[in-house]
Amino acid sequence: MSTCEVCGNDYWMSFEVRTTSGEVHVFDSFECAAHRLAPVCEHCECRILGHGVEVDGRFFCCAHCARSSGSRHGEEVRDAVGVRPG
Ligand SMILES: [Zn+2]
Ligand SMILES: [Zn+2]
Repeated sequence: MSTCEVCGNDYWMSFEVRTTSGEVHVFDSFECAAHRLAPVCEHCECRILGHGVEVDGRFFCCAHCARSSGSRHGEEVRDAVGVRPG
């Protein structure tokens, strides 16, 4: 058993998450993992729980937020493969 580093719950199904920097975190739920690790959209400030969008090293929750950021490359980002252009 391991104790969740966010809420302190000692749960038999807690799990570890290893980040790109090599840190290992322990959580009892995906909610706690997202609370600690999920990036925050620069435009609307929600937690990015899906794939999100990375433009010029900045993170957004969706193509709309990337476009709204005024980033030069955000103009080219679309919400889904095969979306109708224009
Ligand atoms: Zn927790
Ligand atoms: Zn957003």
